[in-house]
Amino acid sequence: MNIIDKFLAAAKQELIRWILRGIKLPGIIQVQRDPVRILSKADRDIVHYRDGGKCRYCGEKVQRYNAQFDHVYPWAKGGETTIANMVTSCQRCNLSKADSVGKMWPLPLSY
Ligand SMILES: [Zn+2]
Repeated sequence: MNIIDKFLAAAKQELIRWILRGIKLPGIIQVQRDPVRILSKADRDIVHYRDGGKCRYCGEKVQRYNAQFDHVYPWAKGGETTIANMVTSCQRCNLSKADSVGKMWPLPLSY
């Protein structure tokens, strides 16, 4: 399985989780946090490479050593710590987005 297949499989699983999460009845939702909050170094390298070394929110170039990695669907709200749910972010965008949902969406990937 190459890196793109791995990413697509993870994205598909994530989409299914988002849909299932959306149809749960309000009031019985219990946020189950991913026990893992931080991606492994290898996965952070993959995300930074996939994102072309740019912040996925503003498009600015972010050096690997300065890069932050943001949960698109926030970890605190049940978002998974997977490469499908993580994007490269600059510090400014990461602070601005915090754990909001829908305030900022990642820019499309450009290859
Ligand atoms: Zn940014």
